[in-house]
Amino acid sequence: CGIVGVLGDHEVSPLILDALKRLEYRGYDSAGIATVNRGKLDRRRAVGKLINLSDTLVHDPLPGRVGIGHTRWATHGGPSVANAHPHRAGRVAVVHNGIIENFRVLRDELTLQGAEFSSETDTETIVQLTSRYLDQGMTPVQAARATLKRLEGAFALAFLFDGEEDLIICARRGSPLCIGHGAGEMYLGSDAIALAEMTDRITYLEEGDWAILTRAGAQIFDAEDQQTARPMTRINVDT
Ligand code: GLU
Repeated sequence: CGIVGVLGDHEVSPLILDALKRLEYRGYDSAGIATVNRGKLDRRRAVGKLINLSDTLVHDPLPGRVGIGHTRWATHGGPSVANAHPHRAGRVAVVHNGIIENFRVLRDELTLQGAEFSSETDTETIVQLTSRYLDQGMTPVQAARATLKRLEGAFALAFLFDGEEDLIICARRGSPLCIGHGAGEMYLGSDAIALAEMTDRITYLEEGDWAILTRAGAQIFDAEDQQTARPMTRINVDT
């Protein structure tokens, strides 16, 4: 129900946890974070309040300077660790808000091709698809773009890739998503409130947009894959 992403200069797990707290008002049943550290993609997930996730992180820290986080409001598959986001298949992890309407068709297709699903969510079809495209030799950007073309429904999502410490790819279709600009850092959030502790410089993605985020900035593309410019605004939210 809430999405956060940070391409940071320091450890990002604490920043992501803080930003997720600012999204608690939306409601959620479980939460999770994924990072890439020394090239390795890893994640931690917990059912219930964010305190359970932060306890998990105390016992089993998640280092890394790039990461994505999620608070989940279950739509497909009950609240459990296995169904919590980030979902992962092979070299890619995804956090997702909303619903993938054609997930059954995709799941059947991928299962026939040998994919092994480890959750009951609609979301896992996204990572399984992207993972298949990566295995076919596509780059992360190509694989994410090819995946987005197959998805039906209303959603916001963010991709994180094993081996990629300067990359988050995100997309908005039907659920809001905004990019935050820092000094040598970039952020992503379901809303500007989530990012208020980190930055007041916000770019709202428009319907159908997707974006490539690196620490150097954001490249934004419209629904027709044309690179496009979206305004940066200064927002004023109470921290
Ligand atoms: N449909 C997804 C799930 O049930 C995402 C739910 C959400 O927006 O939090 O896992």
